[in-house]
Amino acid sequence: TPYLPNENRYEKMEYQRCGNSGILLPKISLGLWHNFGYNDHFGNARNILRKAFDLGITHLDLANNYGPPYGSAEENFGRILNMDFKSYRDELFIATKAGYDMWPGPYGNWGSKKYLIASLDQSLKRMGLEYVDVFYHHRPDPETPLEETMSALSQIVKQGKALYIGLSRYSPEDTEKASNMLREMGTPLLIHQSKYSMFEREVESALMPKLSELNVGSIVFSPLAQGMLTNKYVNGIPDDSRAKKNNTYLNLEAVENNLDQIKALHQIALERGQKLSQMAIAWLLNNPSVTTVLVGASSPHQLEENIGSLSQLQFSDEELEKIEAILK
Ligand code: NDP
Repeated sequence: TPYLPNENRYEKMEYQRCGNSGILLPKISLGLWHNFGYNDHFGNARNILRKAFDLGITHLDLANNYGPPYGSAEENFGRILNMDFKSYRDELFIATKAGYDMWPGPYGNWGSKKYLIASLDQSLKRMGLEYVDVFYHHRPDPETPLEETMSALSQIVKQGKALYIGLSRYSPEDTEKASNMLREMGTPLLIHQSKYSMFEREVESALMPKLSELNVGSIVFSPLAQGMLTNKYVNGIPDDSRAKKNNTYLNLEAVENNLDQIKALHQIALERGQKLSQMAIAWLLNNPSVTTVLVGASSPHQLEENIGSLSQLQFSDEELEKIEAILK
């Protein structure tokens, strides 16, 4: 069936300015790390994207190696774009990345100019795009000079293959150095991507204040701790969960170790009249350094539920204290 987007798609979503830029991003963005590869159900992937667009989620996050197999999330996304979103390309803010192993040999990994330029060209072909809206270096490369990586990113923008630059997993110190270099090159850093959730709070001490100081936007990944901060595991571990699948980065042990905290947090969410996932997202958006929360979803329903967090973003001091006590 042909796709007709929801006409009211911009009414409920809220948008925030990304650093000191012209770009507004939805408070919740969608990542295509899982559930969009050749090994996944194509119809489901398509329905998740339709739901995202209908909900006002304009920002979609990909990478060269999302799948599996590598490249297949971009290819499937390209097919869906062509089928459903051809006339809406300019309503979307599309990101991809390079930085992890992508093809064999010395030029398919890390942060050389050789790798970044070639990888983005491949990504554009797979997605059928002329340019992406943001291109990321996916992780810092300790061996390649920072100047080389930053000038490659800057060149990509000057060539029009990406509109903006992002960095992922960079330390506060390297982010500052890179941001200064990019500003001098005339292509300022738009956004930084890092892991942040109730269970992973390392970024709070130095990275987040640094991003605010530098006026760089912040998008945070695995906000639900890959599903642990949802109702999914409150009554045991279901078969259709990421924790039960092979080749994922979430294991049963992690879920079991966190189960007491998950249940206690679930209780607070119930008292707030929210799902745990909704509270976990609202809690992140409570941090003024966070521009957008980058969720994953294995169904349209999950996405819809997660967007429900927008109707209850406020926390009382008492709730915040209770949450702190649980997370300690
Ligand atoms: P989340 O923490 O949001 O985990 C998403 C998973 O949680 C879903 O796939 C689903 O898993 C489960 N889930 C989500 N909503 C619900 C719900 N309402 N009820 C029950 N279960 C739910 O994020 P991800 O770890 O997927 O990361 C999000 C994105 O961040 C990625 O797609 C990617 O774009 C980016 N990322 C970037 C990295 C980087 O290095 N820069 C690294 C990792 C991610 P289930 O299959 O169990 O249903």
